[in-house]
Amino acid sequence: MLINGRELEALRHAVAAGGPKRDAYLHPLAPGESEYAGFAIRAAANRWVNTRIRIPEHGGHSHDFFCDCGTQLSLPADMQPQAQYVCPACGKTYSGERFDAAVRCFDHHKIANAALNLALAYGIGQDRKYSDKAAEILRKYAEAYPGPHTNAVAGGMLKQSLNEAMWIIPLAQTYDLIHDSGALTDADKRLIEDKLFRPAEEGIERCGIGGNWGSWHLSAVGVVGFAIRDAGMVRFALKSFEAQMRGQLGDDGLWPESVHCYHFFPLRAFVFFAEACYRAGIDLYSYQPKPGKGLRAMFGAPLQYMYPSFQLPAINDGWYAAWLPLNLYEIARLRWSDPAFVWALEEGRERGAAVAEAMPAGNMRYLGGPSLYGFLFGSTLPAKPKPPRFAGTNFPNFGLCTLRNDRMMLTFHYGRFLGHGHPDKLSFTLFADGTLLSPDYGTPGYGSKILHWFQSTAAHNTVVVDGKTQARSRDNALDAFLAGKVAQFAKATATDIYPGVSQARRILVIGGVCFVIDDLASDTAHDYDWLFRCEGTPRVLGAYADAKADTACYPSVRFDRVASFEDLLRIDWKNPPCELAFGMWGGGIAGLGKCPAEDDIRHVSFLMCRQRGAKARFVAAFVPNKPGDQARLAKSGDIISVSMPGETVYLSLGAQSSGNLTTDAELAAVRIADGKVTGAFLARGSRLAWKGKTLIETASKVDCAEASKLSF
Ligand SMILES: [Zn+2]
Ligand SMILES: [Zn+2]
Repeated sequence: MLINGRELEALRHAVAAGGPKRDAYLHPLAPGESEYAGFAIRAAANRWVNTRIRIPEHGGHSHDFFCDCGTQLSLPADMQPQAQYVCPACGKTYSGERFDAAVRCFDHHKIANAALNLALAYGIGQDRKYSDKAAEILRKYAEAYPGPHTNAVAGGMLKQSLNEAMWIIPLAQTYDLIHDSGALTDADKRLIEDKLFRPAEEGIERCGIGGNWGSWHLSAVGVVGFAIRDAGMVRFALKSFEAQMRGQLGDDGLWPESVHCYHFFPLRAFVFFAEACYRAGIDLYSYQPKPGKGLRAMFGAPLQYMYPSFQLPAINDGWYAAWLPLNLYEIARLRWSDPAFVWALEEGRERGAAVAEAMPAGNMRYLGGPSLYGFLFGSTLPAKPKPPRFAGTNFPNFGLCTLRNDRMMLTFHYGRFLGHGHPDKLSFTLFADGTLLSPDYGTPGYGSKILHWFQSTAAHNTVVVDGKTQARSRDNALDAFLAGKVAQFAKATATDIYPGVSQARRILVIGGVCFVIDDLASDTAHDYDWLFRCEGTPRVLGAYADAKADTACYPSVRFDRVASFEDLLRIDWKNPPCELAFGMWGGGIAGLGKCPAEDDIRHVSFLMCRQRGAKARFVAAFVPNKPGDQARLAKSGDIISVSMPGETVYLSLGAQSSGNLTTDAELAAVRIADGKVTGAFLARGSRLAWKGKTLIETASKVDCAEASKLSF
């Protein structure tokens, strides 16, 4: 199911021959080092051969094992209950059954994984001491198993049926690997099948196939079915897989919860099942409920969704520090001859080496770390293929589009509220010049006391009305989208997140500048708070009068200064080697302070620009700079100009009948590079001219259009 005899033989040869696989297999296991990554398998197996197997009581919920500050508490090395559990970040301590139960949850997963490492060590070395120990774990679990899940959080060995599914899969793979090793008698097999696998499967199947839990449930049922050769279980899993692919996966290839966490989480489960199927002659990799929708799309779509650094935008629930999981892409490379997957693996590994250096040891979420599938099936890759073509992409089911050129990438989350969603409609994130300047920080562990901040609208780059969190939007419309050669543009309107308020956001990326234009309208006056957070140190340019503002609606933000501005607010954020020049036009009150980053330990710069009235307009320009490059931002009438070395972009915020730029469009832009017009863009218009020369002309008004091949 996980690896067949022929593949094991090849692996055995690779380990005997020397090279990276031998090094990985024979690597010593340092204390505290992960046993989950297909790394140091022999050392892990040897350690477990000499460990007395003691099956813990019923396990709790791993998310309970978090500090109020959002950090996971330190697990005891021996997994025994402690009088106190300590937060490694802030030192706060916790105790009690809830925490003991969470430790037991971790312990169960650890023991199941130990069984798999033992089984793999047996498969590679054919030494019975490993299969005997793996058999002992299975036997002891069969003896200790308390009975099936009766609902999603009752019964079973682990509190959540989700954890039960994640725990049973490696045990089923273990059973398969050592089945014919001689370590199990016929009586053992009957015991393990009847007292462990069948009741566990029965409980998991009962808990249904909804959402990402369902992905794990169905995969566990299928993998157990293969392990004990039960065709009914496999049939159930196949039917359920088909139903999830058809009904739960989005037509845009993304899992409609949160991509960085809940896309790859079910995909990880599917791969366990699909690999077992593949070795049984059933090809789920080619299954498509409709053209272009299926497992391949689940691997392909995230390549366009991720930032150029391979970090995944942390939209909605889930960890901030999440990268493209190269472990899974080993399987993608194995099952499809798509150069994009080979490129992702090679580029990811190169980048991962740099990321790993910056990450704390033991953090398993970094890019390019050791990988089980890499160890089992990875091979020397051909010369790195050309990268796939990256372009702004709309994911209409998820409700998010990306805007990108060779300098910048933005995500624009315009869609409806989905499972594990955040009230972040119309929020954007900004990546520029290799740096994630303004991310969404996702969420810390669900048990964290600071969770409310991450699940509030204020934790996102959008406009908050009257200090409140948005209602859940049901609208998934994108008014306009252009992923052009010169211009990247998107527009969306929200009317169902604040009663009586319409808010429209337009984002335009052209050349080295990004504009974000917000228009708010209501019949009554409101406080409109335009919010933005940024990595790095802010420097305020210009003199502004101190002012007062009621900021009690943002208790998680500490404001250092509140000032008023008449026309333009200028701030630079320094974040070496990247600088972000920022300008905001519209006037009002500005508050600059700090808010939580990915937890309540680290804080980042936070900007609020407030206008009060029935209507408001915010026009912001973001200009990523190299240190020393002075971007100049100016406004004359309804025309904004942004000058950078070698380049000037003019933005028109309405029809213009005189001057260099003339247009009938609601929004238009002209880019001049080295004295030449190199690009033009308009939205809601039909005509754009520069110094009397027509750049864009259409028969009637269009949502948006661009011109790129201009020769003057
Ligand atoms: Zn803490
Ligand atoms: Zn969020």
